[in-house]
Amino acid sequence: MPKAQETVLEIDLKALKHNFEHLKSKLKSNTKFLAVVKAFAYGSDAIEIAKYLQELNVDYFAVAYVKEGIALRNAGVKTPILVLHPQAVNFKNLIEYCLEPSLYSSKIFNEFIEIATKEKQTNYPVHIKFNTGLNRLGFWENDVDYIASKLKGTNAIKVKSIFSHLAASEDLNEKVFTENQIGNFISIADNVITTLGYKPMLHICNTSGILNYPEAHLDMVRSGIGLYGFGNSEKENKNLKPIGTLKTIISQIHTIKKGESVGYNRAFKSDGFLKTATLPIGHADGIGRQYGNGKGFVMINGKKAPIIGNVCMDMIMVNITHIDCKEGDEVIVFGPESTAESFAETANTISYELITAISQRVKRHYIK
Ligand SMILES: *Cc1c(COP(=O)(O)O)cnc(C)c1O
Repeated sequence: MPKAQETVLEIDLKALKHNFEHLKSKLKSNTKFLAVVKAFAYGSDAIEIAKYLQELNVDYFAVAYVKEGIALRNAGVKTPILVLHPQAVNFKNLIEYCLEPSLYSSKIFNEFIEIATKEKQTNYPVHIKFNTGLNRLGFWENDVDYIASKLKGTNAIKVKSIFSHLAASEDLNEKVFTENQIGNFISIADNVITTLGYKPMLHICNTSGILNYPEAHLDMVRSGIGLYGFGNSEKENKNLKPIGTLKTIISQIHTIKKGESVGYNRAFKSDGFLKTATLPIGHADGIGRQYGNGKGFVMINGKKAPIIGNVCMDMIMVNITHIDCKEGDEVIVFGPESTAESFAETANTISYELITAISQRVKRHYIK
């Protein structure tokens, strides 16, 4: 790759393919693979990622909101798309664009039946979500009879899958809790299958579920973070490749004397001679203020340069006193070696938050 000349997020599609194949190698051949491409495919650009995964024959996509699904359809994505958290106000659009809703409460379930009926749909594919312990979205176990009785009264919709979401699949200290969630889900699913008289697909695993609970792969798995290169553990990270490298450059170098300050509110005061570099990336690009004041660091010519002072909207300043570098040199914020996960840890957060926050202002470049 040529050296960066501005702030850019490079996306390595070969790494994406590697991650997809690695995760798939963990599955039985008849287990389907749903790629989670919500939040701009975790910051990587959902359209490019979805088109590429579609070429690789992924079975399903999931987004959080209807708007995200429409963007994929408008870009020519034909693969089925599950919308995890649709709002009733968008149901007409959802149907128009052939998106498949997750129905998680009796309110949203009834609202969808009403609109699907009005739009003269028959057997419109829907996905019923059950809460098994995350306590975020989902029907409860004792709602099955209600759901079945409603379904008997309509042919507007048909249950394509039933699913649930694990609360702590990456945390092996919560193994008992997770196994209990899986067990509850299986018993709910059995109940639904008996009551409906047909078998929808079953799915409960996210990335860490795939890696830690092979017995729970069921008919389909839903992977997001793993595709983007993170396995939520040191062991699993070794087998995956981060697909994104956030690069920028040195705009200007300053030498700072003892007693001078750097940045807004004079948050950093130097107690000796110091060299700083100003970089064209700030909190509006997704590097939040929590990374400032010595927490986060970037890599310049292979060396760590800590962020000093407060993060500005469009810039950060880093300490380069001990680094041999010049204006225009490339800077790595995170990438395959100095990872987004380790950068996120410096501010007590997780890779998910950091990579989804890289704003749309930052150009994406694709390596094919
Ligand atoms: C975001 C999400 C996923 C993907 O989780 P990862 O940990 O990124 O693999 C799967 N299922 C649901 C319901 C989600 O909201």
